Amino acid sequence: MQSPTPRTVVDFLKYGEDGSLYLEGHRCRDCGAVYFGRRSTCSKCFSRSRMDAVAAPPRGHLYAYTIVHRSFPGVETPFIHAVVDVEGGGALRGTLLGVPPDPDDIEMGMPISITFEDAGQTDREGNRYMTYFFRPA
Ligand SMILES: [Zn+2]
Repeated sequence: MQSPTPRTVVDFLKYGEDGSLYLEGHRCRDCGAVYFGRRSTCSKCFSRSRMDAVAAPPRGHLYAYTIVHRSFPGVETPFIHAVVDVEGGGALRGTLLGVPPDPDDIEMGMPISITFEDAGQTDREGNRYMTYFFRPA
């Protein structure tokens, strides 16, 4: 059955009580490291104590990127696959939009805004999906 609200492509992209999307990180109680996606052990301090869910701010800085020239059928290339250090901790991989896919136009460490947008695809049941993208802040 088709969901009236678009679904999210990853489980750490969530709807808040007001219906707006946010990124949910998990912060290690022992060392404060933040991760996106569930895990039982902290890979920074190896603690197995609980992780607390935290709403991550939708901004960060560009840590690394690659320009992808070949991808799956139907995926438009070239595009920029980026790693962003999220403000407050944790890192995310995703697509950087709003910048030409040219190293001359991409600055390491540049401020990034994380936006929540329609993924542009539907599943077999017609469900729409929301995802996150990176854009220059
Ligand atoms: Zn830890």
